[in-house]
Amino acid sequence: MTLSITGIGVGTGIKTAIGPVVLLSSGDTHIEPRSIPTSQIDTEVTRFLTAVESATEQLHRIRHQIPKDTPADILEFVDTHLLMLEDKAISEAPVNTIREEGCSAEWALHLRRNQLMRVFEEMDDPYLRTRKDDLDHVVNRIQKFLTGQASESPPNIADHIVLAEELTPADAILLHHQGALGFVTEFGSSMSHTAILARSLGIPTVVGAHGATRLLHSSEQVVVDATNGVVLADCDSASIVFFHERLEQEISQQQSLKNLCHVPATTIDGHELVLQANIELPEDVQSAQELCAQGIGLYRTEFLYMNRPTLPSEEEHYQAYLQVVQGLENLPITIRTLDLGADKQCDTQPDPVASTNPALSLRAIRLCLKETELFRLQIRAILRASAHGRVRIMIPMLTNMWEARQARALIDDEIHNLEKERIPYDPELQVGAMIETPAAALTAREFADFFDFLSIGTNDLIQYTLAVDRADDMVNYMFDPLHPAVLYLIKNVIDAGRTANKPVSMCGEMAGDPRYLPLLVGMGLETLSMHPASLLEIKQLVKKLDRKSLSSAVDTLLQKTDTLDLDQAVASLCPT
Ligand code: PEP
Ligand code: MG
Repeated sequence: MTLSITGIGVGTGIKTAIGPVVLLSSGDTHIEPRSIPTSQIDTEVTRFLTAVESATEQLHRIRHQIPKDTPADILEFVDTHLLMLEDKAISEAPVNTIREEGCSAEWALHLRRNQLMRVFEEMDDPYLRTRKDDLDHVVNRIQKFLTGQASESPPNIADHIVLAEELTPADAILLHHQGALGFVTEFGSSMSHTAILARSLGIPTVVGAHGATRLLHSSEQVVVDATNGVVLADCDSASIVFFHERLEQEISQQQSLKNLCHVPATTIDGHELVLQANIELPEDVQSAQELCAQGIGLYRTEFLYMNRPTLPSEEEHYQAYLQVVQGLENLPITIRTLDLGADKQCDTQPDPVASTNPALSLRAIRLCLKETELFRLQIRAILRASAHGRVRIMIPMLTNMWEARQARALIDDEIHNLEKERIPYDPELQVGAMIETPAAALTAREFADFFDFLSIGTNDLIQYTLAVDRADDMVNYMFDPLHPAVLYLIKNVIDAGRTANKPVSMCGEMAGDPRYLPLLVGMGLETLSMHPASLLEIKQLVKKLDRKSLSSAVDTLLQKTDTLDLDQAVASLCPT
């Protein structure tokens, strides 16, 4: 009889894996208190320091072996562990404990781990609380050296499904590199490190498969079904055939998507759309380029302010923008000015939000117009970068023309300053508005006349139109891109752009969601900017659409006011 273990499925593209299990022991050792005679204390301290050194060297070696094309956010996981290993909080305190209490290195490290865990548990920030996992991974790595269990790479990983209680980020990367077909972990949630990595590396994975390490054994043939979040063992031959066929389909689907990379996104009736990428870090340019994005439609610049004690300098801004501009080989790049506040907070933010409604408070352009030096510094850096490529500036969260004029005046002032200083910039540089508040969408015509281009930010537009906090799970079910009010506003912005003869694009999540693509194409959008991972799937769908017939179907559809009717009508536009 088939054994089915349920967990949470994660993966992208290929979501099925079939193969024999290799069980990785967690290496977790049960540590008991052990005292050390005074004469042995120095030796014990040396033993501890040697273990820390070996663990650090091992992690450096792993860091070195990580393939060059591994995304930067994944490398950060490993770097965090290295930083922790080098941190005195872990490497020094146990030495004092060994000396003061005359206990073993293992026990001293165990006590230190428990102390630090308590500190992490008391933190309010949910992200920092997740750092507990990192602490455990780092401590276990040292304990393995102390207890003589350290081994560099487990055997026979290639073409196996790796089963473990949990995987450290470094292990996950290496196992992938060694040819693991899939991962199954006993613990972990959809936001755990293993899940994030599995998604990023595209490995079929089931996390939180409770009981898996007890119920499955090494070499046993299993199926990882990441689509449904189950691991199956003892499958009958019909099921094995079914999963093999599904795997083949997934592989050929991925292959045909790759073949689309250099093909234009042209509809059946010959209309070419522009598909661009949204990026958050300069390093993201690489994946945007590999997936043949036709430029960057939204470069979120808040990362420059995150996880640091001081504000970034003009030079830091400039270097980050230059990296993107130079990496893009003359494709257009739209840099959005600072959008701090509300869901995007940072430690150094001037006027940190104390309001009861941060999303309605001092956010984005509102903050920039209050802290003009912050804005000017970023504008100068963008202008300087514009001398090296096709840069555009985009202003977020506008609600009225006063803000628009103030922002433009500050930009013009900085242009004037650069000219005085004879610093080069692009005199043709375009300035656009992000339309993401109902106020701006309703008065889009004025914005279209004033700015060089408009870009619809549906994430905030939906939030503000429907009064639904985009980050609040309790009201998530109401976050409806197809609400008639949202569609009315989107249409209004597109029409305003058409009348003023100014380009309108979309850069909110809606632009990269295949369910809404026929609707958006029928509404007349021609440029869509999305997460790089969505680019090829969207392109594949564009090629199945007939823009002309969608346009008349959408005109009729937009007359509907019943949400259910609209849902059905939009679904019926999708080619089968
Ligand atoms: C949006 O609001 O749709 C958008 C693209 O910006 P962000 O998600 O960064 O607020
Ligand atoms: Mg927004």
